[in-house]
Amino acid sequence: MNPFQAASFLLAAHELKQLPEDAGSEIVFAGRSNAGKSSALNALAGARKLARISRTPGRTQQLVVFTLDESRRLVDLPGYGYAKVPVELRQHWQPLIEAYLRQRRSLRALVLIMDIRHPLREYDRQLLGFCASLGLPCHCLLTKADKLSRGAASSTLQAVERELRDAGWPASAQLFSALKGTGVDSARERLAALLAPATGEA
Ligand code: GDP
Repeated sequence: MNPFQAASFLLAAHELKQLPEDAGSEIVFAGRSNAGKSSALNALAGARKLARISRTPGRTQQLVVFTLDESRRLVDLPGYGYAKVPVELRQHWQPLIEAYLRQRRSLRALVLIMDIRHPLREYDRQLLGFCASLGLPCHCLLTKADKLSRGAASSTLQAVERELRDAGWPASAQLFSALKGTGVDSARERLAALLAPATGEA
């Protein structure tokens, strides 16, 4: 069973206090604009329109929450790296995102979406380093893997895995293509495991 198939839009939050109760488990999705985050969310859910909600004007600077069931959620962060975004907005959401990552007790992991042709750019590294400092596990999806040959894609994956290991970050990586379906099942399995309640938890 694909737990992400049941994903449905709950709310878009501009402030942490608008988020649902901090209980159960949550996974957050982050990535540079255009890396393929919406496509990845849709591919995981098996629904074409799921993440379009995140892109409606006015919602692009909010945390968009999808529920999977009564205790598990996905959270979509605004894409970063857009020079066009006004400074005031950036000043609002960077502390918001940091506070979210720092304070959210139900947060189990961050999924970092990176275009396989441009992995580990500066803000990606900052985010991974920040999560590592919080002890938050990260799983990287190297998206658009179909844009590279099989050999080039697997050597990029190895290079990324080496960098993650050398940095000492609690992060894993895999190939992903929303277009071809590559890595969709293994990403679902990995995320479902990260969302599973710890033994002994209600
Ligand atoms: P977002 O800004 O990170 O949400 O990115 P989108 O999901 O909107 O994707 C940005 C662009 O990349 C769109 O033109 C997508 O069609 C394209 N794209 C996304 N995923 C893939 C993929 O797996 N393969 C290919 N070839 N293109 C993709």
